[in-house]
Amino acid sequence: MYELNEKLRALSAYVPVDASGCVRLDANESFLGLPEEVIAAAKAAIDRIEFNRYPDPAAAELCRAFAGYYKVKPEHVVAANGSDELISVIFSGFLMHGEAFATLEPDFSMYVQGGHLAEARHVAIEKPGWAIDVDQVIETCNKENVRLLIFSNPCNPTSLVLSKEQVRRLVRGVNGLVVLDEAYMDFSNESLLGEKEDFDNLIILRTCSKAIGMAALRLGFAIARPEIANALRAAKSPYNVNSLSQALGAEVLKRPDMLREALERILISRKALLGGLAEIGAEYPGRFILLPGETNFAALDMDGGREVQQELLKQGVAVRYTGGLLRVTCGAPEENRAFLTKFAEILEAAK
Ligand SMILES: *Cc1c(COP(=O)(O)O)cnc(C)c1O
Repeated sequence: MYELNEKLRALSAYVPVDASGCVRLDANESFLGLPEEVIAAAKAAIDRIEFNRYPDPAAAELCRAFAGYYKVKPEHVVAANGSDELISVIFSGFLMHGEAFATLEPDFSMYVQGGHLAEARHVAIEKPGWAIDVDQVIETCNKENVRLLIFSNPCNPTSLVLSKEQVRRLVRGVNGLVVLDEAYMDFSNESLLGEKEDFDNLIILRTCSKAIGMAALRLGFAIARPEIANALRAAKSPYNVNSLSQALGAEVLKRPDMLREALERILISRKALLGGLAEIGAEYPGRFILLPGETNFAALDMDGGREVQQELLKQGVAVRYTGGLLRVTCGAPEENRAFLTKFAEILEAAK
């Protein structure tokens, strides 16, 4: 009888919230579909795809479109099948067996999975009061001989953002590679994208799954200086981004005005969600703390958060409870209202 090895036995599959038929505020996706104009361009792009041929391994047109929108050089950009793939490739490529990696807990769960499969040693650094203590992180990383530090900024699930100056200090201070996951940086303003050449030990990750509104296409990007970018190109599987995603991703990223307008609508929704939560907070003082974040979701520190999440789900509103926080994605106006109403009712009932 074949037996799975220890590292696989320790894993279980990621299970998203079962949100069918619900208001979906659980996965930090964009609530906006793609405009008609883009769908039409996508259909035209399909007609040009040679479906019997492998995709472009460099995803050159897509990387150029990404580089144009974010004002970086295409040679610094590597495209992948979601940032999830990049996380996996980075862990398997940049760590040797038994080497140490650090995460700043709570953070995105894929990091620990990647390190586990790479048979690396995990140094979990707790964040006091949810915020990153830069000096403490530098000290622990260097004392533990950490070869790879990975964290999200702004952070999922805390929504908090670390300033550019603090991130620079962190990248300069640690001896290992720093993987800076900027999945939510479209919603904030502390990106180090324009500066990656100032650091020899930095990889920045970006995704099309959040502000860009294309979670279904699975598109993630790594941005790093050429030596590191080339190493990633060599370590990934050659045909990792399928032709459809390459074509559609390029169509979308070539439309900066459309993207800025979508972002504007998401920021308006965030404002409504956070404003509504602040009002409820004033009505029910001491019941939860709303963290002052800069993402497309709200992070609530509250007793009984898991029970609130389950009660909301029963009532048709899907949110997530993760890392000790209730995490609520901002949605369409009526979705925000549905959540806010039910959330206030739950607090009232538990008075
Ligand atoms: C959503 C998210 C991603 C995106 O992953 P994809 O595989 O590109 O969809 C990456 N990092 C963090 C922290 C996220 O929350």
